[in-house]
Amino acid sequence: MEKARVLLVAFYNKKALGVRYLEGALLRAGHEVRVVYYKDFNSLHPSRTTQKELDLLRGEVDTFRPHLVGLSVMSSMYLDTVNAVLDMLRQDAAAPVACGGAFATMFPDYFLDRGAQFVIRSDGEFSMCALAEALAGGTAWEGIPSLCWRRGGETVMNDIGGLLNDIDGYGIPVVNSTNACFIENGTMTEGDPQRDTLSYEVIASRGCPFTCSYCCCCNLRKLLPPGIHGVRTRSVQSVIDELIEAKKQCRRIAFIHFYDEIFPNLPGWVDQFVVEYKKHIGLPFTIWTHPKMVDEEMLKKLVSVGLTEVIMGIQSGSEHIRRDVFHRYETQEDILRATRIIRRSGVFWCSYDFMLQHPFETIDDLKESYWLAKKMTGPYELQLHGLNFLPGTDIVPMAIEAGYFTREEMDAVMYGPMEEQYGAYWRRETSRESELWYRMLYCLQFKSLRRKIERFEQDPAAHGGEIDRLYIRGQKLQRMRYLYKKSRVVLKRMGIG
Ligand code: SF4
Repeated sequence: MEKARVLLVAFYNKKALGVRYLEGALLRAGHEVRVVYYKDFNSLHPSRTTQKELDLLRGEVDTFRPHLVGLSVMSSMYLDTVNAVLDMLRQDAAAPVACGGAFATMFPDYFLDRGAQFVIRSDGEFSMCALAEALAGGTAWEGIPSLCWRRGGETVMNDIGGLLNDIDGYGIPVVNSTNACFIENGTMTEGDPQRDTLSYEVIASRGCPFTCSYCCCCNLRKLLPPGIHGVRTRSVQSVIDELIEAKKQCRRIAFIHFYDEIFPNLPGWVDQFVVEYKKHIGLPFTIWTHPKMVDEEMLKKLVSVGLTEVIMGIQSGSEHIRRDVFHRYETQEDILRATRIIRRSGVFWCSYDFMLQHPFETIDDLKESYWLAKKMTGPYELQLHGLNFLPGTDIVPMAIEAGYFTREEMDAVMYGPMEEQYGAYWRRETSRESELWYRMLYCLQFKSLRRKIERFEQDPAAHGGEIDRLYIRGQKLQRMRYLYKKSRVVLKRMGIG
């Protein structure tokens, strides 16, 4: 087998699990890998790439002389930077480029139009290794599954293949790469930027069973070949092996984030997990869940070995918005039941997401969110967001069909520069009435404000100034609460509290 040199680029994500899985697969296949973590995620001050950073990346390519450059493009948020990198690579004709990741899987032509030679759709472990080997050895690559490329101006899309149901077969991701660097703020730092992390991100499964219209998971699932399950779960042993490695390599780790869309609850899985996690890991950890998946017995077991936070999407208190717009089919009672169980299970912290003040929402829908949150069992933290319109999600054609945006307006939002996207995605312009209900909902999460805010429910407009003042107090409380939460986690890490 011909040994290849592959340079992988992860954008705006120092943890970049997809790239770490690919690196592991390429190394095990005997190839040489250089990983460039290109810029850091920053939701407050997102910054596009600079010429200096592009020059540094070009220097990496020149030095490493790869047979293949792989760009991991999960999201449309930072396409301007990806395009600048593609331009640079195309001009220098340094090496063929293959793009992968969720966004590339759904929109291969976007990258083929801009000079990428290949796109790899869906799980890339097998196809990336096969392509690297073919390019290094000068052998045929046309039959490699999941590969897209151009022949005579036409896009060729090979069937997606090489995927595993038993995803342990992909191996564990590289935790601390021995051949990585980090480019940010016009400088390059040698070494894996994850090495000094305080929090480690892991996934125990791939895929999600739900169909939320604002998320691309369901459309990615439709692309899976027959026989490949929509949700595939790793063995407990594989997850624990990765975490043992993470503890060994990243000495400062204080807590673990399970980034599964829904934490696994297969028969026997959690029982085995709690035994092994307690024995080998013992760090505080967080999980995500869904109102229909909350299970008291499971949560109690997880709490007993360090589960400190559960994050759950609720998104709207309006059944109409959830069902007809977001395609979420849980009832009010499902949500209330879930919040009761989460509290009863003894989880230290629960955070609930809502997406509010988007074009589909009326003032009555927003009030429904307030009334539902009032009934939810607390204490809880509310994470109130706007609605992100993302390419490849079902809600985009719905918004166009409903007349909220033209296709051109929608594209301008979805493909705009990153700093505009972050601003535009947050919340749309709202009426004073909407703003007051939003602020009252926000205040519900603070015990000391709750009683006060409830006095204004009947006529918020008559108490606008008071609601505004309580909202400002809530924002201050939120900052203090954040510090409290972090310090509790650190104490738990130290075995205190
Ligand atoms: S539950 Fe989460 S991951 Fe699953 S479809 Fe909905 S938003 Fe996507």
